[in-house]
Amino acid sequence: MSLAGSWRAELRKLLLVLVASGALGWGTGYTLEMLCIGLSVLTGIWLWQLWLMRRWLEDPEQAPPESAGIWGLVYDTIYGLQRENRDARGRLQSTVDYLRSSFASMRDGVLILTQSGVIEWSNNAAERLLGLQYPRDRGQPVLNLLRWPAFHEYFLKGDFQQPLQIPNATNVRQIIQIEITTFAGGDFLLFFRDVTRVVQMEQMRRDFVGNVSHELRTPLTVFKGYLETLESSELFDDPRFRKAAGQMDMQVQRMENLLTDLLWLSRIETVSEDRETSAVNMVAMLEELREELDSSHPDRLVVVEVQSEETVLGNYRELRSAVSNLVINALKYSDDQEPVVVRWEREGDALVLSVVDSGVGIEEQHIARVTERFYRVDESRNARTGGTGLGLAIVKHVAASHGAELTIDSELGRGSRFSLHFPQL
Ligand code: ADP
Repeated sequence: MSLAGSWRAELRKLLLVLVASGALGWGTGYTLEMLCIGLSVLTGIWLWQLWLMRRWLEDPEQAPPESAGIWGLVYDTIYGLQRENRDARGRLQSTVDYLRSSFASMRDGVLILTQSGVIEWSNNAAERLLGLQYPRDRGQPVLNLLRWPAFHEYFLKGDFQQPLQIPNATNVRQIIQIEITTFAGGDFLLFFRDVTRVVQMEQMRRDFVGNVSHELRTPLTVFKGYLETLESSELFDDPRFRKAAGQMDMQVQRMENLLTDLLWLSRIETVSEDRETSAVNMVAMLEELREELDSSHPDRLVVVEVQSEETVLGNYRELRSAVSNLVINALKYSDDQEPVVVRWEREGDALVLSVVDSGVGIEEQHIARVTERFYRVDESRNARTGGTGLGLAIVKHVAASHGAELTIDSELGRGSRFSLHFPQL
């Protein structure tokens, strides 16, 4: 029966009771009394239905009470809503179970922390990697259980842009990478990954490049020595040999530059953890660099614009090599008549070193890749300029190890601006 139909039936029932009890009362001379009795019986029936409903709602697993009319309809409606609710809860629960089991089966350790750093949940891999136990450790502050000082510092600092790599406290030969993200208004999601193999491979790669470069230096020095001796002999008076000697000289020089850059890159990568740092006076360094360039590039103009006297905390040699690479590139990739401007200034919270040229510029699609090792925009041009293809890789590495950011603004045919942004300490 429809809702309107049920209400009509209920009203008819009320009317029937009123008419029947009124008629009975009129017949017996007790109209008011009979009406009261009739209404009381009806109220009693409704109260009974309410009591049945309450009993059923206390234990909704039971089937709803059997009833016709408006009460039956109310039971059906409540029952339908309950079933929908149960289905929705079931679906939600299975989604939660699904997500949990996928997190639980991840190879990376996963920890969920509340805003106050207390463990809410952890997966099996976290137990294996970190020696935690769930649910035993639920409710424990994470800093009480993971006692690595570097992790404490990282977690309390709250800057999670870069992951943290540290030796595992339970197995120092294992390197763990920790990544933290915040979610749900401040809770923490922590991923712990065993990166021992990756770190070892990276170390092997560095050692290999370093060793090969080192080993190649000796034969190259011998070769260069003999070449110089031969060049001063009569044999090289012959123009054919002279040309060949010139070529050999140039290639030996290129190889020497390459080995120097490779060795330097592998050195700065290796010592990045415990390099010597001091307050580097950038103004003095730029002056020194300009003097050096005046003698190595006497026909070029390098303008140094100093707008700040502030120093930078870092390694002098590394910073100098980065700035010198940028300036030499600016000279290499611009016309002889164009000056190169080197600027040291404060921009908001950062100290910025920029090298600006009005040279060939770089096409948009190459900009993101020029800091890769050996990436060159134009091979033919580079063969002429004699670069190693490692200059910007060195600059990028030095920037990263000094917490600075390298930005490149360039327009083809108009020039480039390479800037190092040092955050204020
Ligand atoms: P290279 O030794 O070839 O100069 P770098 O790593 O220093 O190697 O630079 C990579 C490439 O980026 C260069 O080959 C060049 O194509 C481009 N590049 C670097 N600096 C500039 C600049 N100031 N203007 C235009 N192109 C540049």
